[in-house]
Amino acid sequence: MNSMKKRGTKKSEKSEITESVIMKEKKKKKKRCRLMKYEELPVYLQDNEFIRDYYRCEWPLKDVALSLFSWHNETLNIWTHLIGFVIFVTLTVTSLTEKTAMETLLAGFSRPADEGRWPMMKKNGSADSFPVSYTSQISNPSFLGAYGDGYEVAIWPWFVFLGGAMICLVFSSVSHLFACHSHKFTLFFWRLDYSGISIMIICSFFAPLYYTFCCQPYWCLFYLSSITIVGILVIITLFTPALTSGKFRSFRAALFLAMGFSGVIPAAHAVSLYFHHPQVLVALVYEIAMGLLYAAGAVFYVTRFPERWKPGAFDLVGQSHQIFHVLVVAAALAHSIATLVIMDWRRGLPPCSADILG
Ligand SMILES: [Zn+2]
Repeated sequence: MNSMKKRGTKKSEKSEITESVIMKEKKKKKKRCRLMKYEELPVYLQDNEFIRDYYRCEWPLKDVALSLFSWHNETLNIWTHLIGFVIFVTLTVTSLTEKTAMETLLAGFSRPADEGRWPMMKKNGSADSFPVSYTSQISNPSFLGAYGDGYEVAIWPWFVFLGGAMICLVFSSVSHLFACHSHKFTLFFWRLDYSGISIMIICSFFAPLYYTFCCQPYWCLFYLSSITIVGILVIITLFTPALTSGKFRSFRAALFLAMGFSGVIPAAHAVSLYFHHPQVLVALVYEIAMGLLYAAGAVFYVTRFPERWKPGAFDLVGQSHQIFHVLVVAAALAHSIATLVIMDWRRGLPPCSADILG
């Protein structure tokens, strides 16, 4: 009898312990998945002291993934580049499949209503030379052979840029979503983010350089290989552990800007060769717009305005990093337009042998 009583007490004690363990675990999880204030964060997550609240910190992976759909101080950072990514996926799919859509895009950006003002635009190939599907061209890219069979301008450099833009935007979104999971994740994802930006900058150069210099193969190779080498060096530099810290924000911004502005030399070269071609100047205006948008983005990134002005007021909406993200997407779109204009211009020129520059 006594032993039965003892067994019963033991059993209820056991279930009590289990219950309390479950409760503790639940509490722990709830604690782990709450949004934290800046002061509560471990040092490795303390990056911007002007964003005061709504931090996710070391949440389990599943909760981090689901936080894509909830409000915290990274929500808009994730979504600004996710929407940018969707825009570039749409642009890629359109380029691959829709002949008419692409032609409308080209015509809309590079040809004013009065065609007579644009003598260089007289087509030698007409719209018929535009391929119905570009997939055939990508599968058979002829580097430095802008005028291959069928007298068409290669389309692959345009896809190199679109690919670079998509990589940058998706890397950025994923990094902003997952970096808060652990110290290891923070280190890995911020490096991934920086390499994405470098990849986009390198890829941006391909199309304009290719279409401008495809009849001067040595210049074309020289510029493309120089920017690729510089880009790889920048990526290697960014992977140096010390440079991932917030202290080197200005250095990173300067590095990206320097990389971007190295395009000034080939652009000046192109303008000196083709200054009498209005479309080259139109493309240049869009490229200058791109440069200004990137520069404005860098100013927000470095100065942390407006949250510096009113700490805590822009934790969820309007912080500098969100503005920087929107400016990056706008700059990439300006570059897309410049590239479409320059592609259209090249299509309107005679083949290299008959080119005005020989
Ligand atoms: Zn970002």
